[in-house]
Amino acid sequence: MKDNGLFIVLSGCSGVGKGTVQKIVMQDMPELMFSVSATTRKPRAGEVDGKNYYFLEKEDFENRIKNDEFLEYVKLFDNYYGTLYSEIDKNIAEGNDVLLEIDTEGAMNVKKKRPNAILIFLLPPSVDDLVNRLLGRGTETEESIKLRKAKINDELKMAEKYDYVVVNDVVETCVDKVESIIKAERLKATRNINKLKLIRGEDIQC
Ligand code: 5GP
Repeated sequence: MKDNGLFIVLSGCSGVGKGTVQKIVMQDMPELMFSVSATTRKPRAGEVDGKNYYFLEKEDFENRIKNDEFLEYVKLFDNYYGTLYSEIDKNIAEGNDVLLEIDTEGAMNVKKKRPNAILIFLLPPSVDDLVNRLLGRGTETEESIKLRKAKINDELKMAEKYDYVVVNDVVETCVDKVESIIKAERLKATRNINKLKLIRGEDIQC
């Protein structure tokens, strides 16, 4: 019987580059499974339903909340975002490592329900740098930039509650550090109990 897979949560301030880092990590480590979130926001150009997100109508999302289908969900800028149990638990139990890319509030909610989750906080080199990045992205309205800016300071205060903090200054360096964390976590003795038993010829309880 395989040991459980890792539950890796990539989070951090809005606009810090979580999506970019996540995509490169997924390319470099194709064995990782990406947890596709559900959202009520409209797809952006190039986004594919079922790959980037499950794009749901508000009513559908709210029904799923009632049916307890979400490990966590948040309402951000008038849209819901949530992690479906169906994306997580079975995969981890089968020994697959699952990567989530979610906001800071969601990450804290995950940690409460799944204390074993590995929380990685991506930091900007500075608050000014992050504000400039938000302005440069070009997909945001003025109003949403204002709302996002207001969140940055609150989000930064949560960093100590995470297991790891990584500054996203040079993307390649940041990716390298995130991948190192994943590789080291895979080798933790406590995460390899069944492997150890197998090597020692002991019985494995299912
Ligand atoms: P965007 O609309 O730019 O794709 O995402 C906005 C924010 O929602 C990002 O910070 C992203 O990490 C976060 N997010 C995406 N999926 C989820 C989710 O399932 N749960 C939570 N809590 N946040 C999410």
